[in-house]
Amino acid sequence: MEYRRLGNTGIMVSRLCFGTLTMGPLQRNLSIAKGVELFDRAFSYGVNFVDTAELYRTYPYVRGALSLKPDLVICTKSYAYDRKTAEDSFKLATEQLGRDYIDIFLLHEQESEHTIRGHREALMFLLEMKKKGYIGAVGLSTHYIACMEAALSYPELDVLFPLINKRGTGIADGGEDGTERMLRVINRAHEAGRGIIAMKPLGGGHLIRERTEALEFVLEKSCIDTIAIGMQSLAEVDYNCAVFSGKTPDESAAKKSMGQSRMLLIQEWCEGCGRCVLRCKNGALSLKNGKAAVDMEKCALCGYCAGACPQFFIKVI
Ligand code: SF4
Ligand code: SF4
Repeated sequence: MEYRRLGNTGIMVSRLCFGTLTMGPLQRNLSIAKGVELFDRAFSYGVNFVDTAELYRTYPYVRGALSLKPDLVICTKSYAYDRKTAEDSFKLATEQLGRDYIDIFLLHEQESEHTIRGHREALMFLLEMKKKGYIGAVGLSTHYIACMEAALSYPELDVLFPLINKRGTGIADGGEDGTERMLRVINRAHEAGRGIIAMKPLGGGHLIRERTEALEFVLEKSCIDTIAIGMQSLAEVDYNCAVFSGKTPDESAAKKSMGQSRMLLIQEWCEGCGRCVLRCKNGALSLKNGKAAVDMEKCALCGYCAGACPQFFIKVI
């Protein structure tokens, strides 16, 4: 496994970051024991970095991972916008993870200069905790090129977590040349010493049929320090760890992991309240005949709408 220094933070991370959204309640909803088994396998290949978020509700899984690997590098994110919500998020993370130190704490799903400014109080709190030694690095995650551009003016954002893949799938303000424009700003951020974690190299599953090329595309970009991939089976762990270690994946792992293409399931009991429609930033959901309906061309399979449904009638499977 290759390791990279995450920008100027000094934090050393494996090039493969284990994304936990897919194993948690918003997606596969694996048992904690099964999730820990996946971490164990990934650690055996040298993975030392996991990505979680308050939204994902996967802290209990990561706590299990910490029991196997106490020096694990953890990145989490929250939608906190002021001091109180940031304090609550930090407390929840430390309590549920069972560790009083968070390596990387990010503002989740930022969109622009305006949203960064709107979250200023939360950012100040995170910076204060960093100064006190409870957080290693702060930053933001985003699906927007405009937000990455805005982040360049905030040197206190150590780590940036943008969406990037070879087709630009899921870049909210992308369009035809979205991938090139996102790469240009990632490159500038990297040159300025920011740590770069890439998300959705497989477009949330849309690029699974061309995953060799899709993974090569991000792996060959030296401006990307580490790449987060959600994994929910041993075959996926084996496949991705082999690719990231420069080896040819075992044929059966390759086959088994291909079989797991994903889709958005909206259950027939949907009451048409529209909460999930408002939550989807990709404009993939609408109400049709009193029920939620998805346009799979626009859906990035992020699973965020699942957290908005009070009845759990929508999820990525
Ligand atoms: S429909 Fe749901 S899974 Fe698809 S992009 Fe929107 S929020 Fe994400
Ligand atoms: S939030 Fe749930 S109940 Fe409401 S429209 Fe979406 S799927 Fe249906």
